[in-house]
Amino acid sequence: MLKKLSIITVGAGLIFGAGGSWVQQADAQKPDWAGEGKPDHAGPPQGKVENVIYMIPDGFNADDATNYRWYKGEDAVWDEHLKGLHKTYSDDSRVTDSAAAGTAMASGVKTNNGTVGLDDEGNEVETILESSEEKGKSTGLVATSTITHATPAVFASHVESRDNEPEIAKQMLANDVDVMLGGGKDFFLPESEGGEQDENLLEQAEEAGYTNVETRDALMEADDIDVEEGEKLLGLFADGPLTPEMEREGTEQPSLSDMTERSIDVLEQDKDGFFLMVEGSQIDWAGHDNDPTWAMKDTEAFEQAVEKAIEFAEEDGNTLVVVAGDHETGGMTVGSNGEYDTKPELVKDVTATGAAMADELNEDRSNVEEVVESHTPFDLTEEDVEEIQEAEDPKMAINHYVSDQALVGWTSDGHTGVDIPVYAYGPQSDSFSGMIENTDLPNLMAEAMKVDLGDK
Ligand SMILES: [Zn+2]
Repeated sequence: MLKKLSIITVGAGLIFGAGGSWVQQADAQKPDWAGEGKPDHAGPPQGKVENVIYMIPDGFNADDATNYRWYKGEDAVWDEHLKGLHKTYSDDSRVTDSAAAGTAMASGVKTNNGTVGLDDEGNEVETILESSEEKGKSTGLVATSTITHATPAVFASHVESRDNEPEIAKQMLANDVDVMLGGGKDFFLPESEGGEQDENLLEQAEEAGYTNVETRDALMEADDIDVEEGEKLLGLFADGPLTPEMEREGTEQPSLSDMTERSIDVLEQDKDGFFLMVEGSQIDWAGHDNDPTWAMKDTEAFEQAVEKAIEFAEEDGNTLVVVAGDHETGGMTVGSNGEYDTKPELVKDVTATGAAMADELNEDRSNVEEVVESHTPFDLTEEDVEEIQEAEDPKMAINHYVSDQALVGWTSDGHTGVDIPVYAYGPQSDSFSGMIENTDLPNLMAEAMKVDLGDK
């Protein structure tokens, strides 16, 4: 049961309640869930860890988490599983990129920005996926970017530059990852077939025991993959990255939660357990674009995937789920422009990314009002219209307009170096508590699964 804690009133109307939660007193906007303190739950199972599901919302930090809670109107599924923070700096910069961040989070070794699966002297470093394979576990990678993009790449390839996606594709395939789902078919097809590879990796995949699927329907029908018999699943659902979640309707692409669920279905057949990494890739891209709608709606899709993982872990009892962004992107703020409020829920009624709206503008941008008003609930003033018409980058101007309405701020169009929240559920989840390094994450997973990480 929830412990009764005393409530202390401080200063001008702030209440500190149970579990350190706070709400503004006498606030008309106080939601039902605010100030209730820690939820009453039974606590994580305490068995041994056979499976790890590593969920990485790329570019997500506490500001995304707070804005998302207001957007949703209640706690997100991860909130009650918060354990601590991790430090993200790389070997050569206080602000990491996804390749160095991912290498640290996959291998426990800090490296230079841009580097995939190598230390700062160019030596290959073993990844938690590879050491899980060595222990006889099945493995999977899921992303909404190309599957060869930095974050999934760091788990199953070792290259000097993250931009070398054709080489990453070859290595990932050679690495025998049992399930790979995401975008990036171009990096598996030869140039003669419109791709960017020098051989046909899709054919090679089939020869190596992969079932190839390219649509959501085919993915959902692929229910007889037997990993114990060496059968594998490759799903590449777009030539490049998948579409943003808010534009997925009308495509044949699966959602992140579809891909997560199907991966678990396949991998859980392995008696030795499994390691699965799932990336919400595009929260980062929303941050680069300063697009609050894209950020909230892709976070929502990511949350649905986390729900699938936790549902499985609850039933299984021997599965550890860890959720941690790799770094922050965009320097998002909760509230902006000097106003003491935030209204991210307003972007629920925005129906296109800023990039998609900018694409609909005509050459002299005379249709700004029409385009933006057709995709948002907002009425533009003459001044707003002019600002977007005259902006150097209309996409950013539209996104800043929407951000101003939602009182979501941005301080960068790149990454920032702030500490990132770590959430964990399942046996051994408490070991992720406190202030840790990004390099601790895979080491703690290795300890929990009793696999050796680091000898390569
Ligand atoms: Zn990243």
